[in-house]
Amino acid sequence: MPSVTRPAKLRAGTTPDRPDPRRYARHLLLPELGMPGQERLGQSRVIVVGAGGLAAPVLSYLAAAGVGRVTVVDDDAVDLSNLQRQVIHRTEDVGVSKVESAIRAVHDLNPDVEIVGVPERLTADNALTLFADHDVVVDATDNFATRYLVGDACVLLGLPLVWGSIHRFDGQVTVWSYDEGPCYRCVFPEAPPAGAVPSCAEAGVLGALPGVIGAMQATEAVKVLLGIGEPLAGRLMLYNALHATWSSVPVQRDPECAVCGAHPTITTLTDTVASCAPPVPDAADDVREVDALALADQVAGDHPPVVVDVRSEAERDIVRLPIGIHVPIETLRDGTGLGRLDAIDADTVFYCKGGTRSAEAVRLVRDATGVEARSLAGGILAWIDEVDPTLARY
Ligand SMILES: [Zn+2]
Repeated sequence: MPSVTRPAKLRAGTTPDRPDPRRYARHLLLPELGMPGQERLGQSRVIVVGAGGLAAPVLSYLAAAGVGRVTVVDDDAVDLSNLQRQVIHRTEDVGVSKVESAIRAVHDLNPDVEIVGVPERLTADNALTLFADHDVVVDATDNFATRYLVGDACVLLGLPLVWGSIHRFDGQVTVWSYDEGPCYRCVFPEAPPAGAVPSCAEAGVLGALPGVIGAMQATEAVKVLLGIGEPLAGRLMLYNALHATWSSVPVQRDPECAVCGAHPTITTLTDTVASCAPPVPDAADDVREVDALALADQVAGDHPPVVVDVRSEAERDIVRLPIGIHVPIETLRDGTGLGRLDAIDADTVFYCKGGTRSAEAVRLVRDATGVEARSLAGGILAWIDEVDPTLARY
């Protein structure tokens, strides 16, 4: 498979077996590490899935710590909206593959580290091959489909999984599949159905939050590699940035777990539907859709349709169509917003960012009123692409 490798560049003072004592002096002073521990880090191999917000501190601290080989897997390119939190990438990296940018960042920080970049999406076909030959897996992804794939692959290979997740102001971190502790599926048996969770791009996240959680992941990865202290296994740590609170929930192995239990039903990997992936055009096959150019024509015509924005106020502050009314999707879910839709008919068009929430709005209104309205295919992003590229994307 295509991958990009930048091998470690050994400098004066460093040999493959003896890390440079000047670079790692503050590690060498720790009795729990010392030169034996530092050498062990230098012989360790970690694979990081994702090269985004969580991966930024993970890759930085693993590189700085002198982990011998770091593999990073991501098929995405750096977008301007990533830079608010994905701090290994720079403004000049926009448009560059994240893997390429991550390789540059790691190499700049510590040329002792061999960094292997895999510019591919993790799939059921490549996960086991990629993970094999590593000591620890770090999940730094942002979607449920990949999390289940990573979690199952770690059980099948017997690898510890250092896991983190972030949402708005909340973070979670733990180590799965370590020692006798639970695996990811023991605690979260099933992925939520596609569309049940707001897409990551729609939910928002505080920029420093992945810094907090990712730094915890790097810490746990180093502890697991060295076998020191008490790894964060069997406990799920929860952090709320708004209230500045940490809490810890005990998590246990499920003897009937589908993948690590006594009678596993999952013995090979399968790809599940991405429930947090960017909206796809065919996400609304039971809903009538209108494309952006057709809507623009209708809006300019003699009988413009009612256009309803179901996004949040914050999203409207970034960009909105110059027409229509605002009825947030939450008020359609709880029914309080239905009263504002007395003028709707079959021509009415709901829109959101990418087309998922607007399709839900059409269904909710159909169920409540019997009116079969329409959804703007691809959301306001499609409108920006096809009708008015001067509007702000987010
Ligand atoms: Zn399990």
